[in-house]
Amino acid sequence: MSVGIHPILLGIDRCYIIQAEGIIMIDGGAPKKGKAFLSAIEALSIKPEDIRLMVLTHGHWDHIGSAKEIQDLTRAKLVMHQKEKDCLEKSLKPLPPGVTLWGSIFVNIMRVFTPFIHVPATHVDIVLGDADFPLAEYGIPGKIVYTPGHSMGSVTVLLETGDVFVGDLAMRAFPLRLSPGLPVLAEDMQQVGESWKLLLDAGAKTVYPAHGTPFSTDIIRKALLHRGR
Ligand SMILES: [Zn+2]
Ligand SMILES: [Zn+2]
Repeated sequence: MSVGIHPILLGIDRCYIIQAEGIIMIDGGAPKKGKAFLSAIEALSIKPEDIRLMVLTHGHWDHIGSAKEIQDLTRAKLVMHQKEKDCLEKSLKPLPPGVTLWGSIFVNIMRVFTPFIHVPATHVDIVLGDADFPLAEYGIPGKIVYTPGHSMGSVTVLLETGDVFVGDLAMRAFPLRLSPGLPVLAEDMQQVGESWKLLLDAGAKTVYPAHGTPFSTDIIRKALLHRGR
C-alpha cells in the first residue's frame, strides 16, 4: 500500500496528513489555524470529512490549539493519551522544563507569552492508555505507540514503512533547535531515551518531527550514544 505524507504548517507546529486507504491527521497546530488548515487540504484535494482521525501527539498548546476548530470542520475523532487529555478538555497550558541551556532560556521566554494563548476546549473521543493502538481500522498501515519523555502523555505514530511521527520526541527547527536531534525541552530525558529505544527496536527509520523537516534515525542513534557516555 502506498502511503502519502503531507506536512501542513499550522503556526510553529508541523502537522501531517497521512493518506493510504484512509486519511488521518497528526497534531492540531497552534490556535486559530482553521482557515490555514482548510486551504492546505484543499491544495491536496482532500475534503475535510475525508479525515477520520486526528492523533494528538501530546497536550502542549502548539499541538492542540486548533484541534476543536479542525474537529468541527472534519468531524474526525480525536485521540490522545489519558495523561494529557485534560490539556484539551480543560484548556491547560503546561510547559515542559528545559534540558539544555537554550531550552531553559526558551521556556522562560514562553512563560511570558503563555498567559495570552487560549486553547479552545473540546472532548477527546478516544483516550489511550499505555497499549499500542492499531490504525488498520482507519486505513493506515501502522499504529500509535506510547512514547513518554518530552511529556508524560506523548505518543508516536509508527508506520510499517519505518516512518515515525514523534511530536516533540525529536526536534529540528528554530526556535527550538537548529540541527536535528533530541528535544531541548522534556519532562524526563531518561524516558526520552527509553521511548527512542522502543521505536528503534520497532524499526523506526525516518523521523518526522513537529518542529522541522524529516531526518534519519541514525542521528538519534548517535545522540543517544553520546548521552550514554
Ligand atoms: Zn511539546
Ligand atoms: Zn511543540
